[in-house]
Amino acid sequence: MVLKLYNTLSRKKEVFKLLRGREVRMYVCGPTVYWYPHIGNLRSYIFSDVLKRVLKFNRFDVKDVMNVTDVGHLTSDADEGEDKLEKAAKKEHKKAQDVAKFYFDVFVDDLKKLNISQPKIWSWASKHIKEQIDLIKVLEKKGYTYKTSDGIYFDTSKFKNYGKLSRKNIAGLEAGKRVSMGEKKNKTDFALWKFSEKLGERQQEWPSPWGVGFPGWHIECSAMSMKYLGESFDIHTGGEDHIGVHHENEIAQSEAATGKKFVNFWMHGAFLIFFGEKMSKSKGAVTRISDLEHQGYSPLNYRYFTFTAHYRKPLVFSVDALFSARTSYERLRNIAGHIKDDDKENKKYLEDFEKAINNDLDMPKAMAVLWKLVRDKEAEGKFRTIKKMDSVFGLDLLKKDRVNIPAEIKKLAEKREKLRKEKKWKAADKIRREIRGAGWVVADVGVGFALEKK
Ligand code: AMP
Ligand code: ZN
Repeated sequence: MVLKLYNTLSRKKEVFKLLRGREVRMYVCGPTVYWYPHIGNLRSYIFSDVLKRVLKFNRFDVKDVMNVTDVGHLTSDADEGEDKLEKAAKKEHKKAQDVAKFYFDVFVDDLKKLNISQPKIWSWASKHIKEQIDLIKVLEKKGYTYKTSDGIYFDTSKFKNYGKLSRKNIAGLEAGKRVSMGEKKNKTDFALWKFSEKLGERQQEWPSPWGVGFPGWHIECSAMSMKYLGESFDIHTGGEDHIGVHHENEIAQSEAATGKKFVNFWMHGAFLIFFGEKMSKSKGAVTRISDLEHQGYSPLNYRYFTFTAHYRKPLVFSVDALFSARTSYERLRNIAGHIKDDDKENKKYLEDFEKAINNDLDMPKAMAVLWKLVRDKEAEGKFRTIKKMDSVFGLDLLKKDRVNIPAEIKKLAEKREKLRKEKKWKAADKIRREIRGAGWVVADVGVGFALEKK
């Protein structure tokens, strides 16, 4: 079955084909490790994780790289403000690298909790300064750079296709958008290298042919992706906020330097919305996975919740919505936990499932197929089919014993089930009340019953 993925570059769903070999080379824009990741950030990484799982379901091998931004990302994406890491280090009275390591570990913990697999290669920006300087040198030699009093800039007017990803040109930047020009030649020009204002004031600075300083945020992704994946590779992902600036600039730098197409498929995840806006630290309230855990929601409840919307659609976060996702998830696990392995797979359901995931990762549809399967009294091969589907969902649907149901409760439920089969409704109802009194709820699920804690 063909796999179709939406490519931001063409604004179309395209049949996915490898550029070469059997291995998908994929770069995921990673975290800036100056603060805790919030569940909005994590929605983006659940998306790239599902993408990876779907590629594997389609029998591709995947070589993926995720960057860790520990230098150069300024408080404004437009090369202004403070370096986020330096600012956090000052605030916390710590070394910048200690701050980075601390939040990186938190990030990895969150990935593990959410069953998001780690990339084959983690690449840290501060460990690839040479590669970034080398790339800037190439751009300089080819005439794409100029110097200002605060750094080396990329001249976007020299790159013919600037704006092809977001379909904006330099002149067409939204009217009224505040872009500070400083000494820049064009509004869209961006820093490749920034000079330290005062030597020794920054914790992280390096010598370069242009002066002591640090790399701009965008150059790290071009330098590191091309180092590990080659000058042209298959897929590059990130949140949708990266389309207009960060990824546009990555394309400009990389294609100007190599003269080749940088990335074949650009894929972007839509935002998690909180109180009407993108969940974002700079805009106020953010929620972390551990906050959800404190409120009695498991990380996989959240993972399930993210599958209620397609990855390219905004997803509104609310406690009510998460509550209902938890109820559905627990019910699903309970039912799945009662299904016996009959050594078969259900071809029809697997086909419908594959159709959904291969149609640009349609997880809400895939979830509907799963629910239909578990409710289907006649379907064979449920156990193995669910297992296969769960290789994409990553929801631990068949993992045993998350809830320990006491033997006497199970016995009562079985007795009630027997009475129901005999159509002795009154007696069955009496037992239901008894079970309830002991703190459990029986749900009829079409194929028997499931027990849940009240
Ligand atoms: P950062 O650590 O700020 O560089 O962001 C890490 C990733 O999270 C990026 O790919 C962002 O695009 C993404 N992101 C940030 N906020 C949200 C949000 N509210 N919903 C979904 N993704 C987000
Ligand atoms: Zn990036």
